[in-house]
Amino acid sequence: MSEENQNILSAYEWITKLYHHLLRYTKDGKEGYQYFKNRGITDETIDVFQLGFAPNVKDFTAEFLQKKGFHQQILVKAGLLSLNEDNSVTDRFRSRVIFPIRNHLGKSIGFGGRTIGDQEPKYLNSSESELFQKGRILYNFDLAKKHIRKQNEVVLFEGYMDVISAYQAEVKNAVATLGTSLTESQAKLLRRYVDTVTICYDADNAGTEATYKAAVLLQKIGCHVKIANLRENMDPDSFIQEFGATAFKDEVIKASYTFTSFYMRYLKKDFNLSLESDRIQYIESVLKQLAMIESSVEREYYLKEISNEYNVTMESLTQEIQNHQQKMS
Ligand code: ATP
Ligand code: MN
Ligand code: MN
Ligand code: MN
Repeated sequence: MSEENQNILSAYEWITKLYHHLLRYTKDGKEGYQYFKNRGITDETIDVFQLGFAPNVKDFTAEFLQKKGFHQQILVKAGLLSLNEDNSVTDRFRSRVIFPIRNHLGKSIGFGGRTIGDQEPKYLNSSESELFQKGRILYNFDLAKKHIRKQNEVVLFEGYMDVISAYQAEVKNAVATLGTSLTESQAKLLRRYVDTVTICYDADNAGTEATYKAAVLLQKIGCHVKIANLRENMDPDSFIQEFGATAFKDEVIKASYTFTSFYMRYLKKDFNLSLESDRIQYIESVLKQLAMIESSVEREYYLKEISNEYNVTMESLTQEIQNHQQKMS
């Protein structure tokens, strides 16, 4: 690693500790502490995730790190300070709670900062650098790894707070993509550790689209995919806060859908099922997917569902499946 990057990592280590200390033990960090308390986060969790607070002071970080001997230029490069037009600098994170983003060794390689008010953007991340490439890391992978191994399963979330709430709900094999799109590099990382991935993205449009894309990608590289059963317009964190840990484990994670079942619902958005022609097209599209299922028991299970729901005989559905399978072979 270059000397400059080592220097940056060392600045990150200092600042992780500083923001965390501030939040946990000082008056200047009280707002941040209160913010997490209001969201149901315990002291133990705050410590495990090294959550912190960057106060609303223009040069708090700059001053602290410059006293430690770091050069301004490095700190700008590290994304901790922003360079103004007149060449002065301002702290990048102000009046935000801080989520250190750790690499697989548990070292901070970047930060996410969430406004505690209604500042835009809601989340501000460190800028991409040699050290921090959002598409190559998974939030919380370092701590989740041993649980992922033990359970041969991982639960994939969108955001910091989802992972942190899941941790408090004793779902510790939890990682997040920090946004919605799972990259190939992240998918491969997961594949090295598990056979099964449960996707637990937000139950909104963006989350559903991203679930589909992530599922296709994961299956392509040989993962078995399950889709968490989150009710509409909730995210995992809001579900846990509202309904508790047991409900989350039993009704959301354990009651996950198969990909096929998710896909059959997902496809419906492209059709107006009150129209006969659309209904037929919808069934055709579902059959194309079902033709790819290897287990004949699983296939028949969904065929029965279609047969009942749309009043089509099993004979014609099975015939159509065979047609598709012949085309594929
Ligand atoms: P909260 O519960 O704190 O309101 P959230 O995690 O539910 O936030 P989402 O909008 O669902 O927020 O976003 C999921 C994740 O995507 C966030 O945790 C964050 O990592 C990332 N993200 C969201 N908005 C931004 C943004 N403007 N810039 C960078 N990353 C973002
Ligand atoms: Mn979301
Ligand atoms: Mn969310
Ligand atoms: Mn949320």
